[in-house]
Amino acid sequence: MSQPGIPASSGAPTGLQAQNGAASASGSPYTNGPVQNALMSSQVSVSQGYNSQLPGSYPHLIPAKTLNPVSEQSNYGGSQSVSPLSNYQGPGQTLYRPPVASNPMTSSIRSGPVPQMPLPTSQNPAATPMPSGSFLPGTNLPPPLNWQYNYPSQTNHCPRASSQPTMSGNTNLTGHQYVSSGDTSLQNNFMKSGVPSNTNNGSMVVHNSYDEIEGGGFLATPQLTNKNPTMSRSVGYSYPSLPPGYQNTPPPSTTGMPLSSLNYPSGPQAFTQTPLGANHLTASMSGLSLHPEGLRVINLLQERNMLPSTPLKPPVPNLHEDIQKLNCNPELFRCTLTSIPQTQALLNKAKLPLGLLLHPFKDLVQLPVVTSSTIVRCRSCRTYINPFVSFLDQRRWKCNLCYRVNDVPEEFMYNPLTRVYGEPHRRPEVQNATIEFMAPSEYMLRPPQPPVYLFVFDVSHNAVETGYLNSVCQSLLDNLDLLPGNTRTKIGFITFDSTIHFYSLQEGLSQPQMLIVSDIEDVFIPMPENLLVNLNESKELVQDLLKSLPQMFTKTLETQSALGPALQAAFKLMSPTGGRMSVFQTQLPTLGVGALKPREEPNQRSSAKDIHLTPSTDFYKKLALDCSGQQVAVDLFLLSGQYSDLASLGCISRYSAGSVYYYPSYHHQHNPVQVQKLHKELQRYLTRKIGFEAVMRIRCTKGLSIHTFHGNFFVRSTDLLSLPNVNPDAGYAVQMSVEESLTDTQLVSFQSALLYTSSKGERRIRVHTLCLPVVSTLNEVFLGADVQAISGLLANMAVDRSVTASLSDARDALVNAVIDSLSAYRSSVLSNQQPGLMVPFSLRLFPLFVLALLKQKSFQTGTNARLDERIFAMCQVKNQPLVYLMLTTHPSLYRVDSLSDEGAININDRTIPQPPILQLSVEKLSRDGAFLMDAGSVLMLWVGKNCGQNFLSQVLGVQNYALIPQTMTDLPELDTPESARTIAFISWLREQRPFYPVLYVIRDESPMKANFLQYMVEDRTESALSYYEFLLHIQQQVNK
Ligand SMILES: [Zn+2]
Repeated sequence: MSQPGIPASSGAPTGLQAQNGAASASGSPYTNGPVQNALMSSQVSVSQGYNSQLPGSYPHLIPAKTLNPVSEQSNYGGSQSVSPLSNYQGPGQTLYRPPVASNPMTSSIRSGPVPQMPLPTSQNPAATPMPSGSFLPGTNLPPPLNWQYNYPSQTNHCPRASSQPTMSGNTNLTGHQYVSSGDTSLQNNFMKSGVPSNTNNGSMVVHNSYDEIEGGGFLATPQLTNKNPTMSRSVGYSYPSLPPGYQNTPPPSTTGMPLSSLNYPSGPQAFTQTPLGANHLTASMSGLSLHPEGLRVINLLQERNMLPSTPLKPPVPNLHEDIQKLNCNPELFRCTLTSIPQTQALLNKAKLPLGLLLHPFKDLVQLPVVTSSTIVRCRSCRTYINPFVSFLDQRRWKCNLCYRVNDVPEEFMYNPLTRVYGEPHRRPEVQNATIEFMAPSEYMLRPPQPPVYLFVFDVSHNAVETGYLNSVCQSLLDNLDLLPGNTRTKIGFITFDSTIHFYSLQEGLSQPQMLIVSDIEDVFIPMPENLLVNLNESKELVQDLLKSLPQMFTKTLETQSALGPALQAAFKLMSPTGGRMSVFQTQLPTLGVGALKPREEPNQRSSAKDIHLTPSTDFYKKLALDCSGQQVAVDLFLLSGQYSDLASLGCISRYSAGSVYYYPSYHHQHNPVQVQKLHKELQRYLTRKIGFEAVMRIRCTKGLSIHTFHGNFFVRSTDLLSLPNVNPDAGYAVQMSVEESLTDTQLVSFQSALLYTSSKGERRIRVHTLCLPVVSTLNEVFLGADVQAISGLLANMAVDRSVTASLSDARDALVNAVIDSLSAYRSSVLSNQQPGLMVPFSLRLFPLFVLALLKQKSFQTGTNARLDERIFAMCQVKNQPLVYLMLTTHPSLYRVDSLSDEGAININDRTIPQPPILQLSVEKLSRDGAFLMDAGSVLMLWVGKNCGQNFLSQVLGVQNYALIPQTMTDLPELDTPESARTIAFISWLREQRPFYPVLYVIRDESPMKANFLQYMVEDRTESALSYYEFLLHIQQQVNK
């Protein structure tokens, strides 16, 4: 068989040019003489495996049945119509999930009538439909997409469908299955109360093998492949496997050991769990951990300035301290409501969103790793044993999610930490809410794949002009040995302009060989086995290539960009293994599939109705889904001063679980700050931890239900997120509802399990478990509200709303979220109706944070914010961990011209000043000071005109104000205490986050001052209310 474009016979292939050239003088230093024949033959044989899977043909994309023909969210495949279903910032991937304990084969897909138009709230408080512009019940929100992606992943080359039963409303597919449960009643029912959970139409969820892999294996005899306890680990400490012969230990007494006699020198906190366990704690045992301050009711019109001068801490769940001290760190896992309402009706009353915010793969200083042969899980719901289960006795434990009573396996009776037999409740798994397991082979569908890194570079004229290639290649050279991996690590490179260039790096070659494929209509891969090569074996060739690449295209006149075909080629190349694809693009793609047209209209006001937040083609989403199916994640680095349609391009990362990086106006000479930023961020990107072939599942106590996920991933089946890559800088959010009454329970738990292949080739499972109390009164729900988590979840929902409805609708919904919850508080909790705007202490910053969201780049109006910048801000909302999202939205402002050691903290002999956080208002500024704005990804140091001489000379190193350079992006290291303090503080802020915030020093008359002032959230702007005006508006609405 032959590829189109390649004659099967010998001779120069039409689609393939060998670029011959002598040395560097004439451009390409690469020769390609004798390789051609080998290339031909290898091409033919290798292509067979996935010939039928070529992207672009999509034979497997058969339209899912459209259950709601009214909806615009319709067919994915079929006629390939471009519709909002391929929304980039599209709806969160909504799903309906049965209660935890139910049989996985029971239905998750239901059909039902399209919801009626919402009634006014007052008419029906129980079902609570809300007016337009609300996130809350019964909104007129178009149903979000609900894709499920099932594929049998037995082999890499032939992802053919299994003969599993199909879902109702779906066609049995060859290849991938795309299942849409486009049923509006599903998507909206989270907003409704009391929807019965089993009113399905008889359809079934097809659980694929990945589903089973995270879910299962408990019946199988473990066949351990990862048992080696001597395996080196870079993070955390680990617990060894059982020592030989422990079974000879005499049976323990069933009464257990006296707890006080045991000593745990290096272990986690000892938990004096009673034999009855956590779930048996009575309500009266729940500690009243709320500080009296937390019980205050505040009139925000009188006490506006509620911003604490130190970083806002998440609320502590109102749990008994023995439980709380074992709880998951809120930086990893937190809930919008730390007291869970016991019914959906109560939740509806509070008008607050219920959801989780996760940072599951965060870099941790300490992470317990369990290497035991037995991973103990609930036989019914597959929950991992955790600190919040209860032990009925030595041999039985009760699941805290589904309440099944399970046996304690024999191996679990031995505690490797204490080397004592007979105390399963002291095992590390029961002592740590965050833990990692080494997974045995039953958690694998295939042997763990090697780490594979493919870099795809735009080398068009525009790209060369920016000079980015030099920076990126240099970064790669510097960090080549630091790429996470092992001796199996593979690497490869593709460049493209109007054609696609491959680089043979086969070991033994004297220099890399460039192969150009000019047929972009039907891209094929020349000599695939030499394009992704073992990094160790071909390191010198890789280094040669990285040194030559920046020079190779300096004279190019090629302005076209065939990004789509290049991505297809990269996908094909990576399909057998999966891995990480890093794509660098500098302009709108113009050639071949995926070509885009400029859509940004100059002077387009962002309130305009037809703002282009949705992708203009579904090409990138489809390709991302193909990538996801083959365990490939695509990270997009967009370096462009021109409109590049990030709304369309970004889909490639969103659905493949990649990340988007954006450097507007990158230029190697004109924009040194962006150069510095890219350099620092690449350093982090290239060297940070990475997980491959990952899936994540979130389980929760029976009665609670997950319905919408936010983040970059694909929902593979009901509640399983497909993450071809997982990185430590990605955050996720989840919306939830109360499906069944929780009146019989006092505690609920949430557990996330992330199964991944480490860069060392180990299969691992990272598990986080969060435990929260259930409450029965509205006041308790309000007291436990986590205002940052609420704001973060609302921001995610508002991005979806912007896309499915409009920006103004999303803005209305944000404002209504404040009005509705504070109205509910006023009418249902407060007994005497005082004048003013009364809020519970927990929500004292809610109006401020929502106002900040309205002024955030994603949602602001009245500016000429560039479309790509807005889209990027939306990407960030979806993909950032909560702490960074909040910093971007409501930055921290500090006065820094008079830093002192008072209240400073000491870290490694460094003294780090801790100036108080100021309100974001120009009232807080003064011309005789200097102020630092920490907005997450950027730091701005504004220096007032009359700033003291001391600061100018001792920190900035200038003699007077006029000598401050117009562009200053670094502070000089001066030998003064003032300089040391300022630099220590800024360095410390930078160390708090994975990515490097650039610093701008801003003089009062600098054009950058406007950027600084735009973060003054509390001040009135041309198009937005001041904080006080906003409070008055809220008060009027609440007191109506
Ligand atoms: Zn269970």
